[in-house]
Amino acid sequence: MGAQARSLTAVEDCARRVAERHNVSEIRIPALERLELFQHSSGETSDIVEKQMYSFVDRDEAETTIALRPEGTPGVVRAYIEAGLDRSDPEQRFYYVGPMFRRERPQKGRFRQFSQFGVEIFGRPDPATDAELMLMVDELRRELGLELMFEINSLGDAECRPRYRHAVLEYGRAHLGELCEDCRHRLERNPLRLLDCKIDVKLAEAAPKSRDYLCDNCRAHFATVRELLTDAGVPHAVNPRLVRGLDYYTRTTFEVTSTAVGAQSAVAAGGRYDGLVESLGGAAVAGTGFAIGVDRLALALDAAHFASRADAALAALGDAAMRRAMTLAAEMRAAGLRVELLSPGRGLKALMRRADKIGARYAVIIGDNELASATVALRDLKTSTQSEVAQADLIAALSAAGANRRA
Ligand code: ATP
Ligand code: MG
Repeated sequence: MGAQARSLTAVEDCARRVAERHNVSEIRIPALERLELFQHSSGETSDIVEKQMYSFVDRDEAETTIALRPEGTPGVVRAYIEAGLDRSDPEQRFYYVGPMFRRERPQKGRFRQFSQFGVEIFGRPDPATDAELMLMVDELRRELGLELMFEINSLGDAECRPRYRHAVLEYGRAHLGELCEDCRHRLERNPLRLLDCKIDVKLAEAAPKSRDYLCDNCRAHFATVRELLTDAGVPHAVNPRLVRGLDYYTRTTFEVTSTAVGAQSAVAAGGRYDGLVESLGGAAVAGTGFAIGVDRLALALDAAHFASRADAALAALGDAAMRRAMTLAAEMRAAGLRVELLSPGRGLKALMRRADKIGARYAVIIGDNELASATVALRDLKTSTQSEVAQADLIAALSAAGANRRA
């Protein structure tokens, strides 16, 4: 509705622009797929498949079981293979956006129908691709004006992941009595899930770490991803428990969180899934991707806007000053400043109370004297100091003072 719809659209539009800049093209995938697709890709022991899928038996002759898609990746991979691209032209870059469906307990930031924006890049085994995916999320974050945290991990590949899996399995068996019901139940089939268990937190923290099991190639790949992120100025932390809920990840996994959206803080997640195309019947082609929770980013965006403060309050004393203040305000806004032109006809004291209330960093005051000398009084509302500035120099003075750097 209204403002909420606008925030969702703003996030989706911004994500499209970022993806297009990276030469990623849109793919439209259906909301209905065969249930098996998700069982074979997301994995039988993932939460999505075990508990969260909406599915029904169709009344066709074969009584096909259909599912409402809980995520986008499997449908993109299916379409990619069906079009024969895995063999004819494997290097492809796609994005999708649209509704996903999961049986969840609805709460703030967690819905049974929600929107995801996702990118999938095929045929690129190099670490630059893993880093580029995170750069896209970082660009989106910047354009939306949000603070986000990046966490990354590496799960190893076909060579070293089985060794790691075995170590976690042995660890789980040794602590069987202490595991929660879910972890115990899926331990033999998917021991890694123990690592991101929200109940057995202590056990998960003490579990074997994937970085101690990586083969040389995976170690080098992970080091390069981290270097590239550092070079690009994307701060990130290594989280050895980041395994993701889906079964298909290899090497890099990442998750992006926001502190602005409350308990449901994960706003995006992704990584590398080099075995997925082959396991769904295609050629052995590398794959990487991420999905953004559009609803959660929109919530973060709204929270950021709600918390944001004016850069400057413009106070005009008298009608003539008001006319000049209008043009000054327009110039300041054109320079990217967030400016409120205060209601005229009030005394300075009332004006400053309003400036305080909207959390303005600066007050720009213009009366008859200032009008005559083509100056303004510039008051720093944090330090309560005031100086006289020429009207022509106002924008330079405000940017020198960092008025447009939002905290
Ligand atoms: P969570 O741990 O919050 O359940 P997830 O691991 O199930 O997330 P993914 O499958 O990785 O999530 O989906 C990617 C993103 O989609 C998440 O980071 C989140 O922002 C968003 N998302 C997932 N489930 C929901 C939901 N039920 N409602 C709204 N957004 C969701
Ligand atoms: Mg989930």
